[in-house]
Amino acid sequence: MTIANAKTVSAGAALPLVETAIDILADLVSFDTVSSKSNIDAIVFVDAYFKRLGAATVRIPAKGQDKENLWVTFGSGQRGGLVLSGHIDVVPIDGQKWTRPPFELTREDGRVYGRGTTDMKGFLACVMAISSQLDLAKLSVPIHVAITFDEEVGHVGAFEMAEYMKSAGIEPAAVIVGEPTRHFVVDRHKGAVGFTTEVYGQEAHSSQVHLGINAIDIAAEVVALLNALRADQRNLPADDAFHYPYPSISVGTIHGGQVRNIVAPACTLEWEMRPILPEQLATMRREFDKRVKMIIANRSKEGMDAPRIVTRCLWNAPPLISDPNSSATALALQATGYNQASGVSYGTEAGVYQQAGFPTVVCGPGDIEQAHIADEWISVSEIEACLKFLERLIARTSDATFQINGG
Ligand SMILES: [Zn+2]
Repeated sequence: MTIANAKTVSAGAALPLVETAIDILADLVSFDTVSSKSNIDAIVFVDAYFKRLGAATVRIPAKGQDKENLWVTFGSGQRGGLVLSGHIDVVPIDGQKWTRPPFELTREDGRVYGRGTTDMKGFLACVMAISSQLDLAKLSVPIHVAITFDEEVGHVGAFEMAEYMKSAGIEPAAVIVGEPTRHFVVDRHKGAVGFTTEVYGQEAHSSQVHLGINAIDIAAEVVALLNALRADQRNLPADDAFHYPYPSISVGTIHGGQVRNIVAPACTLEWEMRPILPEQLATMRREFDKRVKMIIANRSKEGMDAPRIVTRCLWNAPPLISDPNSSATALALQATGYNQASGVSYGTEAGVYQQAGFPTVVCGPGDIEQAHIADEWISVSEIEACLKFLERLIARTSDATFQINGG
């Protein structure tokens, strides 16, 4: 069965809640919210949905982009309660071999397929569906929903959302980031820090190498330096929460030179670090800058401008750090029935919210292995599990009562 562009969901429709969630998911998937594009059509749709349910909403324009964050509040007050958080942007489909329409929900054999079903419109659809069951009169604390742009490209939206929440004086008991964990409670993950290093040398005819400074040669030294720093990190104690139990450094691209017979004047590296703790990033950067100075000194030639090595940090998504006293962890464990939180290797917006001072965990439907792939999918049973999770979570936070039909 294919559900195409069915923007017909009305609040409290007399369907089993899982069907309501799948109908909403069909609507969400039909908006092409690839990070490079505007998300405003989708935000307008979600905003109208929450408004119909009686929520107070704030559309927060992105700084310098045609995109918005959406902040939604059921109930009143700033203290306590929950923030249910998710990003509405998705990764591109370019170069992937889809056998089903990426921006149309396809339901087959207990699964629904479409871009963003797992990462992470499935969670948002569950939050929207469960919201239709909230008894606002019985909410003792506020339930907020935070929907962000640009998670997939440096968590830009989450930084702006965290700023908004701080300025609004929001003090939730928990921020729940509903990225796919199959409802395991994740209280730690690595950060992700993106760098670009540009190397500038001196152009010359390749028969006159003494008159040039080869930027590719220097970039190769920088690559060797990054490899050495990665090797240094293996001296840290192994952290078995992660498949690769150390901070990592990886060079993703290298572009340099013009043609074979010109000494290359420029070369650019794109690379990243994934720290487990923020101070590991600071230590790495200090050591990197120190050794880069040595490379410049070694490569400088008399009578010529010194080569330049310019390194910019493009984004710094902080790690999520385990906090045994976190109210978010306690609540999520109660709501899932697990007795222990765990770590994952991928990054999420949770580190951004935690760094801003909010107790935060990651817990949501689907498996990360189903994310970002062609024919991305989520199982209907995971959607059902998410609705149950949200029901218990909200009930424990707010003493709210529910009328879950068919659930
Ligand atoms: Zn995601």
